[in-house]
Amino acid sequence: MSEQSAQQATQKHSFQAEVAQLLHLVTHSLYSNPEIFLRELISNASDACDKLRFEGINHPDFYENDPNLHVRVSLDKEQKTITISDNGIGLTAQEAIDNLGTIAKSGTKDFMSKLTGDQKSDAQLIGQFGVGFYSGFIVAEKITVESRHAGLDAAEGVRWISGGTGDFEVEQINKASRGTDIILHLRDDALEYLEPWKVKQIINKYSDHISLPIEMQKEVWQEDEAAEGEQAQGGKMVKTDEWEVINSASALWTRNKSEITEEQYVEFYKNLTHDFEAPLAWAHNHVEGNTEYTQLLYIPSKASGDIFTREAKAGIKLYVKRVFIMDDADNLIPNYLRFIQGVVDSADLPLNVSRELLQESRDVKTIREGNTRRILNLLDGLAKSEDEKDQENFKKFYAEFGSVIKEGLGEDFSNRERILKLLRFATSTNDEIVTSLADYKARMKDGQKAIYYVTADSLNAAKNSPQLELFKKKGIEVILMADRVDEWAMNFVQEFDGTPMQNVSKGAVDLGDLQDAEEKKALEAAAEQFKPVVEQLSDALKSKTKEVRVTTRLVDSPACLVTPEGELSPQLVRMLKQAGQAVPDSKPILEINPDHPLVKKLQGSQQFDDLANVIFDQAVIAEGGLPEDPAEYVKRINSLLLK
Ligand code: ADP
Ligand code: MG
Repeated sequence: MSEQSAQQATQKHSFQAEVAQLLHLVTHSLYSNPEIFLRELISNASDACDKLRFEGINHPDFYENDPNLHVRVSLDKEQKTITISDNGIGLTAQEAIDNLGTIAKSGTKDFMSKLTGDQKSDAQLIGQFGVGFYSGFIVAEKITVESRHAGLDAAEGVRWISGGTGDFEVEQINKASRGTDIILHLRDDALEYLEPWKVKQIINKYSDHISLPIEMQKEVWQEDEAAEGEQAQGGKMVKTDEWEVINSASALWTRNKSEITEEQYVEFYKNLTHDFEAPLAWAHNHVEGNTEYTQLLYIPSKASGDIFTREAKAGIKLYVKRVFIMDDADNLIPNYLRFIQGVVDSADLPLNVSRELLQESRDVKTIREGNTRRILNLLDGLAKSEDEKDQENFKKFYAEFGSVIKEGLGEDFSNRERILKLLRFATSTNDEIVTSLADYKARMKDGQKAIYYVTADSLNAAKNSPQLELFKKKGIEVILMADRVDEWAMNFVQEFDGTPMQNVSKGAVDLGDLQDAEEKKALEAAAEQFKPVVEQLSDALKSKTKEVRVTTRLVDSPACLVTPEGELSPQLVRMLKQAGQAVPDSKPILEINPDHPLVKKLQGSQQFDDLANVIFDQAVIAEGGLPEDPAEYVKRINSLLLK
């Protein structure tokens, strides 16, 4: 190719705006942990080999008589380059432009917004959102990528070059060997990565478990036979073409538990998830029976930012007989355990299994049940453990994922009781979220027949809810629930360990034997005495309430709202409306406290209508809502104040 035409064949491209931004960040602030670039590039090489294995099932010709997949890391002190080569799937020219010039993943915006400027934590974030390749620019002033996609002609190779600023160049090249070479032209402050011992150390630290052999050239030197002429005598020395494998090169989960150290488990997890923090616990088992599989499941120490969104992905990678099949295999874990990360390797599923097939497979169902059981066992073990570290870990787990596993109450009936046992609550007598249902039961009063709980928008609102006044007066503990999911989830729970569970803000309170005969009599008398007031109130508040009645549950408040049995609470209605869902209109019951001066004042009042509406609106406010017509509420209050 002449100089001229070579130039014409070179195309300049600009990076997508986000990439340019990211590159700026990578080069300017992410240098506190520079060695991770090697982990990221080796992980990409390994992904490329996984892809070749997968595609090779249907395209055996992709192997091109070069079936032994490997990654090679070579160092060139003269050129100041470190090259990471793989004979994986490779990139077409278009793929190089698309995949190395843009960030397709929606998570990247997230990544950007999480960056704090604190270099250390930013470095920890790198890779989490698929920015791995660009980490090369932490140590390189220029990166050259040479690649050829499997199955293409040697002439259809591609070279991609960038200095890590605004743009990159792409040209067609000849490349005989399949796969990708990533050539990093090191910056002067990164020359330590030309030392073989240093590079080996980093590979052992981060990439030992990669199932692919990672090879480096042996330090054996010989005279350069190619160099002839002037240097023939005592000629130039070059390394022999002998390579040694420097990692263990077997998939970690295939090894025996007893041969795996804690550190290796942790390092594997970090590689798998790009999480910088160690996991809280893990379960590693080989299961034989109707279906044979290996599971290695981790409980992370932190929830991912999108855990409560629709984008949240299941964290299980599926392998079939060591061949990588797919990420986020959501059929292998129930939705309420979507935070679990790990690997399942099945011996029975077909290699060409699709997501649709997974949905119907009986093997998959068995694996999912097995995974669920193991995780619940693991959590149960942590919860019950006497070990301080385990207890600490259970607390961390619960703070991060407690509200996620509650979804299981509605999703997984067969494990409901086991999930209930894992739950921890604040109560009216203990602000800390540490009380289990079993603890509560053990503290129940003589004669108490139910586990009482209240749901509200916040723990504070729950704690100060008027509905709790009588319980407090009688010294009866009430469980406080304020997670968004609580009320929905508790709909599915009628009892725990044989004891009924009762929401005290729903229906009439039945304290059973805890209420003595005298109190019951007093209530009946009050109901009789207030009959005309109740009738007048029902009339005045016809459009707002379903019913008005006298109650003994209140001590300090004049009134409270109660949700009729079987209907949605005001909190749940608010939540559903916020989420844009249509909710059937339901009216609450207004319960009034016959001992309260304001209620007594109602009898024969000149301003009955104002007083009635104010009492009602205050009850709405007390449980975290807003009066339907705030302006009218203010007007009525003022009119009462002035009289
Ligand atoms: P991720 O690995 O999360 O997809 P990266 O930034 O690490 O993100 O890589 C971006 C993309 O570049 C990869 O998805 C892949 O398509 C391509 N790529 C990177 N390295 C290689 C390689 N060695 N062989 C083939 N494709 C690669
Ligand atoms: Mg990557």
